[in-house]
Amino acid sequence: MAEARGRFAPTPSGELHIGNMRTALLAWLQIRKENGMFVLRIEDIDRQRSRRNYAETILRDMRWLGLDWDEGPDIGGPFAPYTQSERLERYEAALAGLEQKGWIYPCYCSRADIMAAASAPHGLESEGPRYPGTCRHLSQVERLDKGKSKTPSYRFAMPEDKSISFHDGVAGLQCYSSDSGGDFVVKRSDGMIGYQLAVVLDDAAMEITDVLRGSDLLDSTPRQLMLYEALSLKAPRFAHVPLLYGPDGKRLSKRHGSVTLSSIRNAGVQPERVIGILAYLSGLLDKAEPVKPGELIPHFQLQRIIREPVVVTTDLLMELSSYT
Ligand code: GLU
Repeated sequence: MAEARGRFAPTPSGELHIGNMRTALLAWLQIRKENGMFVLRIEDIDRQRSRRNYAETILRDMRWLGLDWDEGPDIGGPFAPYTQSERLERYEAALAGLEQKGWIYPCYCSRADIMAAASAPHGLESEGPRYPGTCRHLSQVERLDKGKSKTPSYRFAMPEDKSISFHDGVAGLQCYSSDSGGDFVVKRSDGMIGYQLAVVLDDAAMEITDVLRGSDLLDSTPRQLMLYEALSLKAPRFAHVPLLYGPDGKRLSKRHGSVTLSSIRNAGVQPERVIGILAYLSGLLDKAEPVKPGELIPHFQLQRIIREPVVVTTDLLMELSSYT
């Protein structure tokens, strides 16, 4: 069997908080258990949201937690570069191939046009409203005409009436219809490459066999699977872990107090304590007791990961904000 290769692929748009730290820990454990290779990739194609200093902070914070990687932006590796903003020509080449094969088409709609399309039902949760297909069947003449006043975005033409199913290592069997989210953007009109395309190309190029990430990306997976198919690339196995919620039932955020790694560290909390809490919240430990990441490797099993949304109690939040 091919060597297991996994990755943590954060967008450097903020500091690591306990939600994405937990994803990093679980992805790391999955691969370390298999004696595989763990890749760190910085997903900074969205230049407006990404900051170089956040990328540096993420690397530092992961090291502080005791997580290491075999390939990454700071140490290189056989599939370098490991920073998406340095891989743009690869994405452009793939786009050209998709265009040639008729998989993508120019779209002249503004966001307001899409929002206004009266019949648009809600799209996939993580992707905003469903694109109603307005520009999919424009004639060449119409395209030329619209192109005079507007730079288009490019959309991937999802196959019609296809059912897409896959087995998720945590969430179980998933079935989607190919048109649930509509055709999605692979290149924005300002030139930015879409997340779906970049992530698929990079995971394939870096020979990733196992993607473990947050369940907010579960419904992106059918789109990514269609891209793998169109690009004749082999898809990895997927496992989507439930997100963390605060005591009020809202998705965990700064509002809930000391949830970023720097605030936790500044409060004097030791990395082992953080790891213990994250492992407990994931179902890998019965008690939130201090532990080093390596000590958890024998305990790791995808089947043990809690499948329901995880609530971080006020007591645990208190533990993360003070040395006790
Ligand atoms: N860069 C994405 C994020 O930080 C994760 C992408 C992925 O794991 O597929 O949300």
